Order: sequence, then C-alpha cells, then structure tokens
Amino acid sequence: MPETARPQQTGAPARKENIAMRLVRGEILHFFSDPGDDSGAQRAQTAFRHHADGGLLVGGGRIAFCGDWADALAAAPAGTPVDDHGGRLLLPGFVDTHVHYPQTDIIGSPGKDLLDWLDRYTFPAERPFGDEAVAAGTAEFFCDELLRNGTTTALVFGTVHPQSVDAFFRVAQRRELRMVAGKVMMDRHCPAYLRDTAQSSYDDSRRLIERWHGADRLRYAITPRFAITSSDAQLQAAGTLAREFPTVALHSHVAESRAEVDRVRELYPQARSYLDVYDRFGLLRRPAVYAHCIYLDAQDRRRMAGCGTAAAFSPTSNLFLGSGLFDLRQALDDGVTVGVATDVGGGTSFSMLRTLAAARQVSQLNGYPLPALRAFWLATLSGAVALGLDDCIGNFAEGKEADFVVLDPQATPLLARRMARAQTLEERLFLWMTLGDDRSVSATYIRGRCRWQRDAGAPQVHLR
Ligand SMILES: [Zn+2]
Repeated sequence: MPETARPQQTGAPARKENIAMRLVRGEILHFFSDPGDDSGAQRAQTAFRHHADGGLLVGGGRIAFCGDWADALAAAPAGTPVDDHGGRLLLPGFVDTHVHYPQTDIIGSPGKDLLDWLDRYTFPAERPFGDEAVAAGTAEFFCDELLRNGTTTALVFGTVHPQSVDAFFRVAQRRELRMVAGKVMMDRHCPAYLRDTAQSSYDDSRRLIERWHGADRLRYAITPRFAITSSDAQLQAAGTLAREFPTVALHSHVAESRAEVDRVRELYPQARSYLDVYDRFGLLRRPAVYAHCIYLDAQDRRRMAGCGTAAAFSPTSNLFLGSGLFDLRQALDDGVTVGVATDVGGGTSFSMLRTLAAARQVSQLNGYPLPALRAFWLATLSGAVALGLDDCIGNFAEGKEADFVVLDPQATPLLARRMARAQTLEERLFLWMTLGDDRSVSATYIRGRCRWQRDAGAPQVHLR
C-alpha cells in the first residue's frame, strides 16, 4: 500500500494546492510512432512505451508525468489523490476520425448500397436537425456513447443546418471535449429540404468558424459531403474558406463505392481521379481527412502522403454497405496517414474495439494480418496526427491533454478466461480488439477527470 505508507502523511488531509493534481495507477501503453509489423524490431521498441505497473500524474487537465508507478509516486506532491486501476490498461483516448452524429438514430438500417442507403435512410434522418432541440438531444446521446466506448476525440459531420453544429459544439464544450466538426455543404443531388447554396454554405461555414474554431477544445472542419452533392461553385467556396482559414480542417468522403466513383467520373470528366476533384479546388492539405479511400491509385496515395491528407479507414461501414476493402498496408507503405473511423451510421458500432476487429478482418482479406500494436497506434496517435491534433493529444507525452481510457481484461467471462492464457502485451491487445466492445471500457477520463465509469465500485480512490 504505497499510497498510505509514508508516515508523515498518515491521517493528514490533502493539501489544498494539490487538489487539482491526481495520480492514476494501472498498466500503461502509449505510442510515439508507427510500431510497424514486427513488435520485436528496433522500430517497434522505440515506437511505444509500456509500463506494467504505471502511473500518470495529471494536473490542470494535462499530463505532468507518465512512467513506472514508483517514479510517478515520487514525482507527485504529498496529498495527491490516487485513482487505482490496478490490473487494467490505461491508453490514450480513442480518436474516431470520421463519424456522423446526426446518423445515430439510423445505425443498423438495411440499405442496399451506399447511394440507396443515403436516399432511403440518411437524408430523411438529417431533415429534423434544423431544430436545435432535436440536434442538442442527439448530440448529448452521441457524446455519452463516445465516452462509454472510450472515444475522447472525433471528427464529426453535422447536417446541412448550421444549428446542428451550434448544438453539437455547445454540448461538447460543456463536457470539455476535444472535438472537430462542421456543417455539411450540399447544394445538389439531394432532397430540396437539405439543400444549401454555394453562397449560403460559404456564409454559414464562415460564421461557424468565427464562432467555434479554437473555442476551448473545439476546432472546425470545412465539410462538403462529397463531390456528387456539391456543385463546382460550392467546392470553389470550400477552397476559398480553406485558404482564408489555414488552420481549419477539411473533411469529406472519397472513393467509397464503385457506383459513386463512376458517378463522379461523369460529373467531373476533366479530373484525373476522384481525389483529383478535391485537389483541383484546393481541398487537400493537413489537416484534411477523407473517409474510405478504397478506390484510389498509386498517384492518389502519393499525393495524399505528400501533402499530409489523411485517410479515415471505416471498416464496419465498408463491410455493412458492401463498399469494398480498404488496402491498409498499401496506404501505410505509401506513407499515407491513416486513422480508424466508426462512420456511424453507415458503420455498425460506436466501439473502436469492434472497429479494430473489422479492420483486422478487412486487412486479412487483403492478405495483411494487421498486428494488434499497430492497430492500437492507428486508433490513438495516428488518429490524432490525421486530425492535426498530435500536438495536444494522442499519447501521454508531458504537457499533452489528459484524455484517456481504461480497459478491463475481465469485462466478460469469455474475455477473462481467454486473457488468463495470454502471455504477452500483444496477445492481450489482440484479445481486446477481437473480443472487446463497450463492456471492456471500465472508465474514460477527460482532462484528467473520470467522466464515465462502468461499475460504481471503480476507480478506488484513496489519499496518499
Ligand atoms: Zn461517412
């Protein structure tokens, strides 16, 4: 019981100046770079840090120290309270690099394919988000669901209505979440009730950027839905916004299904490829995230790698809609930044663990058995890099914001039984991504404070 072993502190009340600091104990894993395919290799050894009995010291919402428990304890001022998650794994919070909060209520809708699913389910579902009360209620549920699943940051689609983004950001701001979101720009090939214009989408986006970009932990993303639903004039307006606001993110879809790619070729015959449509309007850069990226060629990947534009790999969505198999290894080999994404509601789960399971399955079908360490790097640090947020989240480097998740190896009887046979960290990570889901997340911390926990008994808090 090192927390109470120091005689000078026995019975002493916590000192006032230490109230904002907190020690969190547990096994710790975090990444500094891509661990690659071989966990025994030199690259892997420097790519991550693992502390079997680790401690995080947090203060002012940031990481003050991360290391072995004994060192964390020594670094902490006397009286620092402790959250003890012994036997559980602390990871940086998951980063969901592409998700639609207004589609929460159509998850699991049986569309025949992408374009059918958009027409039959998505567009009607997005209609009521001009009502801020509807938008706020959905945003509250959506943020609860993210925290239940250990996701602390997401790149989020609103609807065409600016109110949908105001409502989402208000909810996220109240919860002190680090979120990136934007209003959909969509002026053709969709129902009239969801249509803006090039000018109104420019004006509304601009107002939202001025109101929200950089407010507390929030950032804005210029969000044309995809090339099919934006006119040339609207993509031009998006490019103008991108030039005027160089730190704002860009967020859209590209090359998700074959029928979509064919349609884009008809609409933009002058473009070399689907990705090139966006490039021509100045919509590729960092941070920019394009969901799916299934039907790209080598030249597209080189272009993305060269300008830091990221791909959001959305495996449950791609399997559910039958869109295709993203070639993860090829993208990584070509230097493309890749994040993992749930893409709810085309995706079938808010859980990044379920999403990693699907990522492994898709990769297997492409002849690439995605290793667990690399999968967890993709879901944490690589997602932060994709969003241009790796200066403030993504790992436990000192000074970064203390958003993290606690994974329980005993979450279900099967997981507990199977974990008991696991010998290595890689084996355990693989079990979490194969058998895990929201039940595996025992707590989620935002800015160093526990904002969600599964069982009321944990974490055990006692004073040093
Ligand atoms: Zn999407």
